Amino acid sequence: MLDNINKIIRNRFIIKSGFLNRYEAIKKNPFLSRNEIEEISFNKLRKLLIHCCIYVPYYSKTMKEIGFNPYNFNLNDFKKLPVVNKKIIQANPSDFIDYRYRKCFRNAKSYKNMNFFEILFFILSLNQRIFLDSTTGSTGKPLYFLQNKHSYVNLLLGILRSWKYMGYKKSNKLLLIWQEDLQMHKTSLFLKIMYSMANIEVINFTEFSRKKTKIIITKIKKIRPVYIIGFPSIIYWIGQYILENKEKKLPRIKSIQLIGEQVFYFQKALIEKAFGSKVFFTYGSRELGHIALEDNCHKGLHINEDMVHLELNSKREIIITNFQNFIMPFIRYNTEDIALSKVFFSEHKCKNNFKMIKNVIGRKYDHIATPNNRKIHAFYFLRVLSNKKILQFQLIQRRKDLIDVILYSKQNIEKEIKIIKTKLRKFLGRSIKINIKKLDAPIKSKNKFKYVISNID
Ligand SMILES: [Zn+2]
Repeated sequence: MLDNINKIIRNRFIIKSGFLNRYEAIKKNPFLSRNEIEEISFNKLRKLLIHCCIYVPYYSKTMKEIGFNPYNFNLNDFKKLPVVNKKIIQANPSDFIDYRYRKCFRNAKSYKNMNFFEILFFILSLNQRIFLDSTTGSTGKPLYFLQNKHSYVNLLLGILRSWKYMGYKKSNKLLLIWQEDLQMHKTSLFLKIMYSMANIEVINFTEFSRKKTKIIITKIKKIRPVYIIGFPSIIYWIGQYILENKEKKLPRIKSIQLIGEQVFYFQKALIEKAFGSKVFFTYGSRELGHIALEDNCHKGLHINEDMVHLELNSKREIIITNFQNFIMPFIRYNTEDIALSKVFFSEHKCKNNFKMIKNVIGRKYDHIATPNNRKIHAFYFLRVLSNKKILQFQLIQRRKDLIDVILYSKQNIEKEIKIIKTKLRKFLGRSIKINIKKLDAPIKSKNKFKYVISNID
């Protein structure tokens, strides 16, 4: 049965839908000249804005009010359109949806609740079926948005090209290391078929324990992947185990792509040492897809200029216009992530002509706020809490004057706790209460693991 479904998907979805042709086209885009890239990018932006002017209520209204003409504008005019954010969209989501699909927002089923046949039908259907998607909001409400087949295929094309950046060839095995709770597994049969077609193996990382990590390393030795994709916190954890136990006979892994979480340079260094492979950073989100990616020049992240328009405001917050989703477009959407550099262009041996940014840091919830309104970035805590005896740590701020620090260690860390407390007290001030709790077992995380969680808006 799997073989038959495999054939159906290959025939209907991949060949007839022109997926491969479209992939061949976007594969070339990074290597076009700057003029050609700018032309593609601007034409996509124009097409999106014309669509929004006609079909998306928020933009029909706003463009009229400010006198913006989507048929005739330049990038300076474009900046007159308002910057939106998660809160603005959440307050009135139907205003941001193509009005012909407004009803769908109420009725759309989340793909997470679809069974295998519904997903298969969605993929194979030729009409514009819609499904509801959401971001995993670590604070407050998640953001719900709509996708259709077109935007979903665009997302897949972006993912496929990101693999190319790390040298992916289908004849070599790719290993995905996920956390079991993550939504991707609800559709396991469907994904199994897709994975078997693309020579992909999947390991579910269920918990941060030494026993499980050992099992996973044994599996890696058996699967012998050439590429690995996973969350930095998980791959870092596995890397730590490899180094501590001087694991031998690991396969020669060429590239590791880190996705989904902010990546720190200390993680990159350890992962490269443990696996002996090159690490590739990515930056993106569920609602916007891949935004910027590292390739083999390793000089920064190349912006997917044929998929998004990226601007930085005065605080270097990243503002994205996404060309891929016409059902619920994101235009000048402030991600609240911060770029570590201005947007720049330089030529490298990679010949990739997309502009670049250095790494991205600091989502809003990666800060701790103090009662006197200072914001302290997660980076600071990493420095204070990085200690050989501490295997894992997490800071949770529930109130402005209360922080819980959770430390996982197998050893006696009384002395370390005292030092940490003094350092934190010195930095955070006396008005914050600091609760330090030591665990003998790893910290569990339902969603992506975060070092710093702030429940303060
Ligand atoms: Zn490059």
